[in-house]
Amino acid sequence: MSFIQIDKNTCTLCEKCIEVCPFDAMSLKDHAVDINANCKVCGICVRNCPVKAITKVETIRQEVDKSEYKGISVIAESLDGRTHPVVAELLGKARELAQEIHHPVLAYVLGNKVDAVIQDCLEFGADVVYVVRDEELAHFRADLYGEVLADLIGKTKPCVVLTGATPLGRSLAPKVAARCKTGLTADCTKLEIKENTDLVQIRPAFGGNIMARIVTTHTRPQCATVRYNVFRAPSRRVDPTGKVIAFKYDTEYVSKIEVLEETPLIHDEKLSSAKRIVVAGLGVNDEKGLDLVRQLALKLDASLAFTRPMIEKGVASYTQQIGLSGRSVQPELIVTCGVSGSVQFAAGMQSSERIIAINSDPNAEIFNLAHVAVVADAYDVLPKWIESLTQGGYHAL
Ligand SMILES: Cc1cc2nc3c(=O)[nH]c(=O)nc-3n(C[C@H](O)[C@H](O)[C@H](O)COP(=O)(O)OP(=O)(O)OC[C@H]3O[C@@H](n4cnc5c(N)ncnc54)[C@H](O)[C@@H]3O)c2cc1C
Ligand code: SF4
Ligand code: SF4
Repeated sequence: MSFIQIDKNTCTLCEKCIEVCPFDAMSLKDHAVDINANCKVCGICVRNCPVKAITKVETIRQEVDKSEYKGISVIAESLDGRTHPVVAELLGKARELAQEIHHPVLAYVLGNKVDAVIQDCLEFGADVVYVVRDEELAHFRADLYGEVLADLIGKTKPCVVLTGATPLGRSLAPKVAARCKTGLTADCTKLEIKENTDLVQIRPAFGGNIMARIVTTHTRPQCATVRYNVFRAPSRRVDPTGKVIAFKYDTEYVSKIEVLEETPLIHDEKLSSAKRIVVAGLGVNDEKGLDLVRQLALKLDASLAFTRPMIEKGVASYTQQIGLSGRSVQPELIVTCGVSGSVQFAAGMQSSERIIAINSDPNAEIFNLAHVAVVADAYDVLPKWIESLTQGGYHAL
């Protein structure tokens, strides 16, 4: 960390620094040069001050001993005693990462009805499940949960903390990270781990134009949220061997949130859990194209989904959009028709088991993901496929 300091006794108020600052970060206030929050510590003013009144002050960063932090952990989100499916996916990923650096897989479970959640964590591969069970934790309250988890994390010192990027996880993870004085990368689509235990948190950035690789090099734990349906859930272990360690609820923190009533939000989760999906992109955006795609979806007993530009055209509701700013899906089969395969679209479906892509452009990006690439005009190929399905032909091409 560094900041800019002005020696008021040396400053002659010549205003040269105000003139050269490219970020409008300096102004004259009460007969002194004032620096506001726009300052990027670029150092231009330092170099331009004729009387050397400005200095760039470097603060010493406290380094953590990374070897003290062990375990890839998952915050096990649950509602009314039921585990959110993202927990299984995160535990599966945690196992992969843990194997690379020879760390254990950990899970944190908070609540009052936690038995089934603990069992799920063990069956999905946790080596140790840390539990805080108390009536005070019956309802999710982000501030209280954040406090209890930060305390638990402080005591158990995991190397990595993964949270589902669900509405609940998104409100909890920043609070946990802030209390642990560490960084947080939201909505990761990929995670890798280095030999030195640095987690490489990969996510689309700058409108999806680049895939950012974010590393928390100076603090621990390393916190990341991951969207539901991005990683594959492992199979349940028949004979789980992990252990359960209970911690007392002993916080003095009093939540500022009072839960008056809980009303479950009715989500259209049909798409997120669909086994087969047919997607229409701009390549089939007219009535004829949409009709063909609808017919194919009907024949394949598949749900219908769209790319974002199709939603923006008003073809369907937002709940049917796949991608970075829509739903993440992981079906057994996904058929994309006239979809280019942008990084934002791919972020929501790249873990699908079988991807069949129909696109007339042989260089379309979607073909980098597809298991079956159909380089053809959708208006030619779709009627033939629908016809063959009507005749009782095989479901795939
Ligand atoms: C911050 C941000 C978030 C975004 N989030 C999302 C998101 O969640 N989901 C999403 O989908 N997009 C998202 N986008 C938009 C994304 O960048 C792309 O613009 C979009 O995915 C492209 O949609 P498309 O494939 O339907 O259209 P296009 O990119 O125009 O592709 C159409 C494709 O159809 C093919 N084609 C044309 N005619 C035919 C034919 N007759 N037969 C077969 N193929 C044909 C073309 O070769 C082309 O590849 C986001 C963008 C930003 C900046
Ligand atoms: S360091 Fe750069 S941004 Fe900050 S006040 Fe000086 S010129 Fe402006
Ligand atoms: S350039 Fe130096 S002397 Fe001039 S106003 Fe800025 S700090 Fe003061």
